[in-house]
Amino acid sequence: MFSLRRSAKAPTWKQVEDDFVMGACSRRLFGYISRDLDGVWTAFDEEARVVAAGPDLADVAEALWAGHLAAHDEQCEPVGEIPWWRRVARKRGMPASP
Ligand SMILES: [Zn+2]
Repeated sequence: MFSLRRSAKAPTWKQVEDDFVMGACSRRLFGYISRDLDGVWTAFDEEARVVAAGPDLADVAEALWAGHLAAHDEQCEPVGEIPWWRRVARKRGMPASP
């Protein structure tokens, strides 16, 4: 269990096309990266603002993740709490399954 928090913090990168990659954390998509015709990768946050650009996908991905970390700590962590959708379901009187 010691690695739970660490692994929950690592982003997942989903390559949708050769030139399009989406970034997901433990709770949601936090941005995406696309490559232009010159081979330059550009990272966009969840509001489609440019976060970083460069020829190296790993560098750009790292910058995108770094940009999300503050919001991630506040909104996505801590893992282990009741997810927001379950809290909402509970408020509305729906049965909360364990
Ligand atoms: Zn997050």
